[in-house]
Amino acid sequence: MRQVTDAILQRIDAKRDELIALTQALIQIPTINPPGDAYEACARLMGERLRARGFAVEYVRAVGAPGDSDAYPRVNVVARHEGSGSGPCVHFNGHIDVVEVGSGWTVDPFGGTLQDGKVYGRGSCDMKGGIAASMIACEALIEAGIDLPGAIEISGTVDEESGGFSGVGYLAQRGYFSAPRVQHVIIPEPLGVDRVCLGHRGVWWGEVETFGRIAHGSMPFLGDSAVSHMAAFLHLLETDLQPRLQQRHTAEPVQPEGARVSTLNINGVHGGHPEQRYTTNQAGEPTGDLPAPVVAHSCRAVLDRRFIAEENLDAVKQEIVDMLDELTRVRPGFRYAVRDIMSFVPTATPADAPVVQATARAIARVLGREPSYISSPGTYDQKHIQRTGQLRDCIAYGPGILDLAHQPDEYVGIDELVQSAQVMALAVLDLQSVPTA
Ligand SMILES: [Zn+2]
Repeated sequence: MRQVTDAILQRIDAKRDELIALTQALIQIPTINPPGDAYEACARLMGERLRARGFAVEYVRAVGAPGDSDAYPRVNVVARHEGSGSGPCVHFNGHIDVVEVGSGWTVDPFGGTLQDGKVYGRGSCDMKGGIAASMIACEALIEAGIDLPGAIEISGTVDEESGGFSGVGYLAQRGYFSAPRVQHVIIPEPLGVDRVCLGHRGVWWGEVETFGRIAHGSMPFLGDSAVSHMAAFLHLLETDLQPRLQQRHTAEPVQPEGARVSTLNINGVHGGHPEQRYTTNQAGEPTGDLPAPVVAHSCRAVLDRRFIAEENLDAVKQEIVDMLDELTRVRPGFRYAVRDIMSFVPTATPADAPVVQATARAIARVLGREPSYISSPGTYDQKHIQRTGQLRDCIAYGPGILDLAHQPDEYVGIDELVQSAQVMALAVLDLQSVPTA
């Protein structure tokens, strides 16, 4: 019994060094977003490797989509290996973009340093380690000569960190994440080797603008400051809305637990005179920009409101509007505008969906323990797959510790890389009902 399963697990074990090398090679391409550096080089590294292993490879540039330009082309790669029959297609989708480096690193962010059983680098955890694991998993299945009745697909997509509109969003609009082409999707985001992520909270990005009346800054009583009006609104957010949000608990298994309520982040505030840099020399004389004395006639705040499955988007926006209307009543001269920037509703794949169950069984087989089911505080590309692709059978599962994402000295553990590749390979066999005895 279980000869096929054991053979695959051993084969992936034997590919440990290959998996490390592939993770390092992906990290060494600095695909920083924004602006979207080196996307094409990274897509081609994935695509040409998979082509050499029998995949049909397409490069799909999101021409005209947000962020795309000749200087920074949004190049996605989709690789497909046909099955021998009419079995379901299992698709692994990873985003190739990484966030900026930031400060505090003790290793080269793009070196792919190997140390103490970990591979370090920007994107190691989020999520080039996961991409490498999914590639090695699929390559092992093909090299083992197993008769797979369905197709396997691997995509490397851009711009997840900035909404995914030129990546998974663009492909989803063109049918790449819809039946009959694809039945199951696994996104190897760094949620941990023993956790299956079913979905995410919703998000509303909005901009609130307050208005004032411009006047000379030496006589502010002749004007009306939009910044002061904004301060009144921000005070209400802190003292009225935030406590209410803290009381709204979700039944979804969001991790970390602090995100099991509604949250609000004031992403940015800007009002009055355009942002400048003020510097002085040793004598205290100004050497940089110089301010002009004006009362602010406009102030804008960008809100990042994360909402739970028990709330709905209209109500989320309405409670902001209600607070602004209240200020209009009690505060002389208060005027405002609210604009939507973007929004996504919460998603949750049912726990009894095939891809969830197959991955759970694979985790139990590889790790010898039952998985936990979680939901993500932030959105990821699953939103496009469910909303545009209309595909419900989608999860996030992959190696790495989520808390390390976007941090200095980000790393992915090598044991986790190998284990997650094993889980992914067994999940494919299970979803395609390949006899393993
Ligand atoms: Zn990610």
